[in-house]
Amino acid sequence: SGLAAFKKYPLTFNGPSPISHLARLSKHLGKNVNVYAKREDCNSGLAFGGNKLRKLEYIVPDILAGEYTHLVSIGGRQSNQTRMVAALAAHLGKKCVLIQEDWVPIPEAEKDVYNKVGNIELSRIMGADVRVIDDKFDIGMRQSFADTMKELEDAGHKPYPIPAGCSEHKYGGLGFVGFADEVVKQEKELGIKFDKVVVCCVTGSTTAGILAGMAQYGRQDDVIAIDASFTPDKTKSQTLRIANNTGKLIGLQHEFKDFQLDERFAYPCYGVPNEGTIEAIRLCAEQEGVLTDPVYEGKSMQGLLQLITEGSIAPGSNVLYVHLGGAPALSAYSSFFPTKTD
Ligand code: PLP
Repeated sequence: SGLAAFKKYPLTFNGPSPISHLARLSKHLGKNVNVYAKREDCNSGLAFGGNKLRKLEYIVPDILAGEYTHLVSIGGRQSNQTRMVAALAAHLGKKCVLIQEDWVPIPEAEKDVYNKVGNIELSRIMGADVRVIDDKFDIGMRQSFADTMKELEDAGHKPYPIPAGCSEHKYGGLGFVGFADEVVKQEKELGIKFDKVVVCCVTGSTTAGILAGMAQYGRQDDVIAIDASFTPDKTKSQTLRIANNTGKLIGLQHEFKDFQLDERFAYPCYGVPNEGTIEAIRLCAEQEGVLTDPVYEGKSMQGLLQLITEGSIAPGSNVLYVHLGGAPALSAYSSFFPTKTD
């Protein structure tokens, strides 16, 4: 693919991320659908890994070319993005400033711990300058981000901006083009074709990269994105814009006008699980020992289970669940998981 023209700095483990067959979960659902998971949740030795590292692999060459002093990024209090940028900064020997906005109505039971445990704790351990501020959820470019960049520049530093989810970065979609190429190669090795690929979508560059990547093989319609933003119109337009930009970068002759974004599972809002999310997290964990989180992957797991049980994914299909990481946030949601008594 046209991806080969771009420089890549390795952050993930050598070789493809593994594909696991979720055999017990598939059997439990009883719909003759075979569920597999591609494990971006354990794709690296850097701070538990996750989807951002694939994106950052194509951004690091730009960082190294410019002799930057600081990496600056932004997310919610339990952002995986900011944890991954903290890990990257440590790995590259750069300073790191993280803006942790108030994106989530924090459940009462978690008020004492939400800003202390999980992802934000890990970023602090890795030496990042963690700044907790009160601005609310938005996937686009933020004032707080621009202000922090200016503050660092005024102090004589050379900060490098990495936007929320890496998504508004010009190269943010490239990493998941590589993911799609990898899936197609693994299909051949495994002797399986994945009829559907289910992926969580918020800031959009993960889905956009997969759409562009699969479109190289005429398979963009096999992608089902599950919204976890609860602002699906913004998520859809941002994803389409990134998919088209990424497509242009790799020389793809295809214009994306729409894609499948299932909006049913993001309620009650970004960062707060619904009852079905918690059930999906527990079911996947109990059947497979695979952990998903209440913000992102629990919602896409919930979507996957619903699509299979309602028959939207046809019996006899093979489906690939894209596991993008996020489990380090689980400790900030402990009240949702009391010990089971039955
Ligand atoms: N899953 C996890 C664990 C994430 O950290 C993110 C990041 O936002 C997503 C899914 C959504 O990916 P994207 O923002 O590229 O749509």
